Amino acid sequence: MACLFHKWDGCKCAKCGKTRDEQHDWNGCKCRKCGRTRREGHDYFYRQRRKNVFGQEKLWCEGECRICGNIIDIEHDYRPTDKKCVLRCARCSHAIEVHQFSLVPGKCAEICRVCGEERDYIQIALRKSEPIQNREAAVRRLKEANMVPDELKENCERGDHLWKVSKVNPQRFQGGASSTEYTCVVCGKKNVEVDWGD
Ligand SMILES: [Zn+2]
Ligand SMILES: [Zn+2]
Ligand SMILES: [Zn+2]
Ligand SMILES: [Zn+2]
Ligand SMILES: [Zn+2]
Ligand SMILES: [Zn+2]
Repeated sequence: MACLFHKWDGCKCAKCGKTRDEQHDWNGCKCRKCGRTRREGHDYFYRQRRKNVFGQEKLWCEGECRICGNIIDIEHDYRPTDKKCVLRCARCSHAIEVHQFSLVPGKCAEICRVCGEERDYIQIALRKSEPIQNREAAVRRLKEANMVPDELKENCERGDHLWKVSKVNPQRFQGGASSTEYTCVVCGKKNVEVDWGD
């Protein structure tokens, strides 16, 4: 039962327990007395998370507030490390390599100007574990140099194409279809996958 004259202890009445939106006792983002939360004052810890963006996996930083449990997704905050060409996220410690490759004259390969790592385009194009963007770039270079290896062409003939997402048609209305178009970066064959939705 509400009282006639509240006895306010900060944001909460000591007699009836009614709360008001003033004089909160903030512990970061959350009031210790009434449990109300606010936008500022979160205390996040971070982890890596895989997220599918238009068919391509992307790594994000996912933060969770230790106090209120709020979850946010943000881009990694990559910083240089003491290893050349290696960057590390200051929050979740995910590491990536960023080389500055230039072509090696007379060879179908590239070398990093900073750390000296050499990559052979044929190896990159054939390596299944390599990210599709790298394989595509390698195939492009090999095509320019007229050096596409037979193994890649044979893969295509066997139906083992190197698919890359080339177009996404999102669902336009509830119950409508969405589709994703894939193009083989080696032979140019297209394939459309339709999701009829629900
Ligand atoms: Zn009261
Ligand atoms: Zn409060
Ligand atoms: Zn919080
Ligand atoms: Zn991160
Ligand atoms: Zn490098
Ligand atoms: Zn193909």
